[in-house]
Amino acid sequence: QAEKQTLGFQTEVKQLLHLMVHSLYSNREIFLRELISNASDACDKLRFEAVQQSDLLSEDAELRVRVSFDAQAGTVTIDDNGIGMNREEVIANLGTIARSGTGEFLKQLTGDQKQDASLIGQFGVGFYSAFIVADEVEVETRRAGEAHDQGVRWTSRGEGEFTIEPVEKATRGTRITLHLKEDAKEFADGFRLRHIIRTYSDHIGLPIELPVEQQAEDDQEPTEAWEVVNKASALWTRPKSDISQEDYEEFYKHISHDFEAPLTWAHNKVEGKQEYTSLLYVPKRAPFDLYNRDAPKGLKLYVQRVFILDNAEQFLPLYLRFVKGVIDSADLPLNISREILQQSPLTDSIKSALTKRVLDMLEKLAKNKPEEYASFWAEFGEVLKEGPSEDPSNREKIAGLLRFDSTHDDGGKKAVALKDYVERMKEGQDKIYYLVGDSLSQLKSSPHLEGFRKKGLEVLLLSDRIDEWLMSHLHEFDGKSFVDVAREGADLTELDSEEEKKAQEEAAEEKKALVERLSKALESRVSEVRVSTHLTESPAVLMIGQGDLGPQMRKILEAAGQ
Ligand code: ADP
Ligand code: MG
Repeated sequence: QAEKQTLGFQTEVKQLLHLMVHSLYSNREIFLRELISNASDACDKLRFEAVQQSDLLSEDAELRVRVSFDAQAGTVTIDDNGIGMNREEVIANLGTIARSGTGEFLKQLTGDQKQDASLIGQFGVGFYSAFIVADEVEVETRRAGEAHDQGVRWTSRGEGEFTIEPVEKATRGTRITLHLKEDAKEFADGFRLRHIIRTYSDHIGLPIELPVEQQAEDDQEPTEAWEVVNKASALWTRPKSDISQEDYEEFYKHISHDFEAPLTWAHNKVEGKQEYTSLLYVPKRAPFDLYNRDAPKGLKLYVQRVFILDNAEQFLPLYLRFVKGVIDSADLPLNISREILQQSPLTDSIKSALTKRVLDMLEKLAKNKPEEYASFWAEFGEVLKEGPSEDPSNREKIAGLLRFDSTHDDGGKKAVALKDYVERMKEGQDKIYYLVGDSLSQLKSSPHLEGFRKKGLEVLLLSDRIDEWLMSHLHEFDGKSFVDVAREGADLTELDSEEEKKAQEEAAEEKKALVERLSKALESRVSEVRVSTHLTESPAVLMIGQGDLGPQMRKILEAAGQ
């Protein structure tokens, strides 16, 4: 096909382009970070394919990214010798957004610059950020292993369509040329580019080069010379003391495609029976597709610094799917596949170590920075609540991280840790009481609480959809068992004196006739009628039977058609 073709962008791309250009104006320089990040990924992918097929590297073995500029023409060019793309890949990658849920996500954008900027940040800006500074973008690319005449040229003004045509390309990889907008010409400048690269891309593990400024000499043609401007060693391999907070943050943005800095991280090197380095991050904000089954999750896997897999899900449980990071193993084979990874005993032992590491990191955050922990909890608490069922071996540890509303603190902040509850327990109390419902306001006025309030017993108030499920997998904390105060068997009399118990028995005896009459009248609707010790004001309350489903679970199952 020797023809030049014009194709339209997918609708979502058009929308994203439009919103991005308008809302990210004050962060314009991130375009370079995104393009360098892609170039670095492309080199990682090539290095990986070359493990099986070493001749892919032979024409040009030193992987690097070159950034050049032409102040007169007002252009900036990013050139890599990575994997490149063929025609189909160009159309798919630079014409569509494949991520599911994108359409719904874009609908949330409002036109408010600040708000949209942070939403787009959560989504990840990527290649299209080139159009923040350029009114025309040209991509020339050739996939590794293809002949010189198999190059592809893509151009677009970022408006609704792009062109694509075959070209000769002598070098492997991708070259992206940005024709800068009138008000963005300042980026065609060596100092500016160097500064941006140092700021955003110092952590990239491969050389990023700028042209050497040359003195023009009359009798000589200037030769092409390049100098490396970043540290060019994989960040996680450096000693912690050499890595700045900014480096850690920028590295996170590179691997996560997130726009915001992470909340916290843990960088560890393990030696001994197994050798690996892990760098794990907790994001500040949940991605829009946290509850989408197909959303990308997992770590970036390297083996001896060679990139192997993105989104390796095998190293963390699902309830920690919000964690981003890198694992670099010295023991796994370079030619490992997802399937083999799944079956390897090494994987399991790394997984359980990393799980502990994340839980420890969260514990530390909760202890040292309670405010940041509260924001973590607001974003990811519901996901963590999946933990006790998925990972019984860490149940106690996870329980320690949970936060709830309670009758002691019912402002809706979800700030009560089980440890706090236990510290406040009354003399003689050996149970942790809780009540599940649809909303905090409904819970606060529940008649189930009357007796507990009167006795000064704290009750946890649980209103997340997953809470009943959670509580069915949490049996005890700190040796104290959990009791649902709306369930048959929740006994308030344990703490009573002999006298009080006697008075209650007498009261029950007195009401015997009434109980019998009510039992008859409600025969088909309830399994039993009893005199309650839980009420102080309300005349009656419905309790859930010992083995029965609670209202939340019933709703979930009904919604699932069961
Ligand atoms: P992301 O990096 O999050 O996948 P981008 O929008 O940045 O999203 O890039 C989209 C896709 O385009 C990449 O996943 C990659 O397949 C392809 N791509 C972008 N830049 C390059 C490049 N320099 N070399 C090869 N492929 C690239
Ligand atoms: Mg990218």
